[in-house]
Amino acid sequence: LHNEVQELRGNIRVFARVRPTTQNDANNGAEALATIRFPNEREATQIEILAAGESATGTVTMKNHLFTFDRIFQPSATQADVFEEIAHLTQSVLDGYNTSIFAYGQTGSGKTHTLEGAPTSITSADPSSDDGAGLIPRAVQMLWSTAESLKDKGWKYDFEGQMLEIYLDNINDLLGKAEVDKGKHEIKHDKGRTTVSDTVVVPLETPAEVFKLLEKAKRRRQVAATLMNERSSRSHSVFMLRVRGTNATTMEACDAVLSLVDLAGSERLANSGSGADPVRLKEAQSINKSLSSLSDVISALGQNKGANHVPYRNSTLTWLLKNSLGGNSKTLMLLALSPMAAHLNESLCSLRFATKVNST
Ligand code: ADP
Ligand code: MG
Repeated sequence: LHNEVQELRGNIRVFARVRPTTQNDANNGAEALATIRFPNEREATQIEILAAGESATGTVTMKNHLFTFDRIFQPSATQADVFEEIAHLTQSVLDGYNTSIFAYGQTGSGKTHTLEGAPTSITSADPSSDDGAGLIPRAVQMLWSTAESLKDKGWKYDFEGQMLEIYLDNINDLLGKAEVDKGKHEIKHDKGRTTVSDTVVVPLETPAEVFKLLEKAKRRRQVAATLMNERSSRSHSVFMLRVRGTNATTMEACDAVLSLVDLAGSERLANSGSGADPVRLKEAQSINKSLSSLSDVISALGQNKGANHVPYRNSTLTWLLKNSLGGNSKTLMLLALSPMAAHLNESLCSLRFATKVNST
């Protein structure tokens, strides 16, 4: 097709990004940095973590853990650096490839920062001109400007967006009429298209309209958060941008969805004993199940092309994204990592999760 798509090594990629330290890290007294090294600096594909481990005899020794992914971003990486590596992947939605990007990591590791950007960047009139703008505003600006430049070649594109939240394995429409969604939403798959009953799909003419939609969803999440505690870190948020193109000259057509998913925090519940809040426990179980389903689905897809059973139905997240994961779709797992020593164990868990996904 019209857009030069770089051959991806398989359809699944894994990137990892270590965020810089924040004011908050210092305020919490967690000033100690983990020992994280970036060997193989030029290719930027490896990350090495030094962690204390206990031997069978009980002696504590330091151990190096080396991980290799498609791309590693150091704390000094800018939003533009990250987008540069992802731009061509997001472009492929204009070629008709379903494309999904997942941000994975513990709460506070930088998932939302990477996807949306610094807190002000989505609200500013032109988020793409803001250095802090994340992947979503940059991708939106780029898709619209590429679509514009393809008009010369006869292409006309239509965009529509949807913003959903998955909490306790239930779908909530973040653009619906009610401030707090009490609807029952059913996922339907038909001829490679996914629809969710009783949810709002917004036609989008301009990037500004996309940013308005994202703002509305963000406010909605905050309303829900004040009613039922801070839950944004315990739900998945899914922004789906459907792109349909027709070419009057060549009679070609394409139809694909770009899904950008801010996953729930991957951290394990610290106090899972009898004293744990039952709501927290339910949330933790639900998150755990959906994240492991996601890894199972990606593994099954990578292992053998379509021959084996892919367990999409094991979670709402994977069932919703069925068409964006299978077939010839492209998937990027973006691992967000904290640089702090206090978060080292969670970072190692995240790195192991990504290794499992990547080994397919
Ligand atoms: P998560 O969504 O994973 O819970 P956030 O994206 O909210 O984490 O990031 C946690 C904090 O770290 C926020 O204050 C955010 O602004 C900051 N942060 C994350 N990544 C970066 C970065 N690359 N540069 C500067 N600050 C960052
Ligand atoms: Mg977040």
